[in-house]
Amino acid sequence: METRVAKSAGFCWGVKRAVNIAVDAVRKNGKVYCLGELIHNKREIERLKKLGIVFIEDIDVLKKGNTVIIRSHGVSPKVIEFLKRKGLQIVDATCPFVKDVHEKVMKLEKEGYPVLILGNPKHPEVIGIAGHVKSPMIMNTIEEIERLPKLSKLGVVCQTTLNMDFFREAVFRLALKVKELKVYNTICSATSIRQSEAKKLALQVDVMLIVGGRNSSNTTKLYQISKSVNSKSYHIESKEEIDSLWFENAQIIGITAGASTPQWVIEEVVNYVRLLDKGGDISGRGVCQTIRKEFQTSK
Ligand code: SF4
Repeated sequence: METRVAKSAGFCWGVKRAVNIAVDAVRKNGKVYCLGELIHNKREIERLKKLGIVFIEDIDVLKKGNTVIIRSHGVSPKVIEFLKRKGLQIVDATCPFVKDVHEKVMKLEKEGYPVLILGNPKHPEVIGIAGHVKSPMIMNTIEEIERLPKLSKLGVVCQTTLNMDFFREAVFRLALKVKELKVYNTICSATSIRQSEAKKLALQVDVMLIVGGRNSSNTTKLYQISKSVNSKSYHIESKEEIDSLWFENAQIIGITAGASTPQWVIEEVVNYVRLLDKGGDISGRGVCQTIRKEFQTSK
């Protein structure tokens, strides 16, 4: 059985940068707070908690003088103002690609374009982008776009992790409705590379494993893309979720991971799949469970 791992699998540049900024800040300050999870990966979050990073959802728990990290998703200017007024030290780990989207929506508004953000309205990155303009529209489905009336002007940006196929389709539909359409493709290169690699790999292999948090938007998109071309695609958070029956009659296993999946989690999955293969029999649940137990006790 051959294992193929996507070149781009794992942390993107922006997530690596945010984790490094947070680790530096906790080393300097002893204890730091982070608004929301720094990255959408439970196991990495556990590791960071042990270093002294406290993840909070409620801004009110912060006291004057505390150090607070803004994660790679970014926040709205209102949140920054509030933190400054409270006398907090701000460590900004917003990804520069996200900051670029902030600038683009402000520019569109200044130029008189009503702003449309393509993306998940509940995702913190989209909420942060929306907070930079007065009354943006946010759309996540083609049906919503279809319901838009004819418009004379519209400016469009998107969530940095948006599915490229959805973006293409959305822009195509918008072009039929809007007279003057200004579009910025703000899908970041880390996302587009991961998505096209995932699709290519899924087409070459018998089984695809997509590793990453279930709450990770970019991992979920990689899974959806993979599933659309290879029905034997599985989204897993860790090696413990692997079922050996998935590999029945499989010759090639593909593995990719979201931008928020640490390298050590990917390595665990790769090693585990290789260990199953070494067991010489990947067709029976019983045999594999024995191998699994051995592997777990050897850790
Ligand atoms: S996915 Fe792109 S925008 Fe998001 S943190 Fe990574 S590099 Fe930055």
